Amino acid sequence: MNERTGQPSDSFELLESDIVNCRSCQRLVTWREQVAVEKRASYRDEEYWGRPVPGFGDRAARIVFLGLAPAAHGANRTGRVFTGDRSGDWLFRALYRAGLSNQAESLSRNDGLELLDAWVLAAVRCAPPANKPTTQERDACETFLHREFSLLTNCSVVVCLGAFGYQAACRHFGISPRPAFGHGVVVPASDSHPALVCSFHPSQQNTFTGRLTEQMFDEVIEKATSIADSLTFS
Ligand code: SF4
Repeated sequence: MNERTGQPSDSFELLESDIVNCRSCQRLVTWREQVAVEKRASYRDEEYWGRPVPGFGDRAARIVFLGLAPAAHGANRTGRVFTGDRSGDWLFRALYRAGLSNQAESLSRNDGLELLDAWVLAAVRCAPPANKPTTQERDACETFLHREFSLLTNCSVVVCLGAFGYQAACRHFGISPRPAFGHGVVVPASDSHPALVCSFHPSQQNTFTGRLTEQMFDEVIEKATSIADSLTFS
């Protein structure tokens, strides 16, 4: 309980409960639930999550990975962020290579995966049609982003997965003017915000075409880790 306001103090549990029960954006509520009922044929025997997807990982993480939104048949199916689609497979393999997790695969909410010094979240918590939330939906969901970053008190580096995640991070931390987005671009940490490290999003559009290679992504994670170390031990 907050002694000054009399309101319950925020917590990861409270935030997760508020996220998974949110129905603020009518278009997204309709879409996520419709997808969960209709299903993709290859997942017809699975029960879809069909709700907003909270962040996941090590609550004491120094490195936070910020993406766009759940995929309709990925996290909207499994209930864990970036889990159940090719982008997520790619991301979680990279986290494992970097020593930031205990296993290379993320398959379901109960698969035993643990992240180490890393936290993964999406700026918008419901799967949007065509992966495109509206500005109003983006803004509605930002309150959860603010609360999540307030709880992630050890965060010293945010790896922004794609321009949407980068813009969300800049808005949240009040970084303006915003340097142009590009793979490997770093916004140094200041007294008021952690460092930001930009990466192309690990979408199939980027990974299948070679625009983003494993080596490029590993280098971004190495950069983020090295910045986190320098901030932690300076
Ligand atoms: Fe709620 Fe965010 Fe989903 Fe909108 S996108 S319904 S604000 S969880």
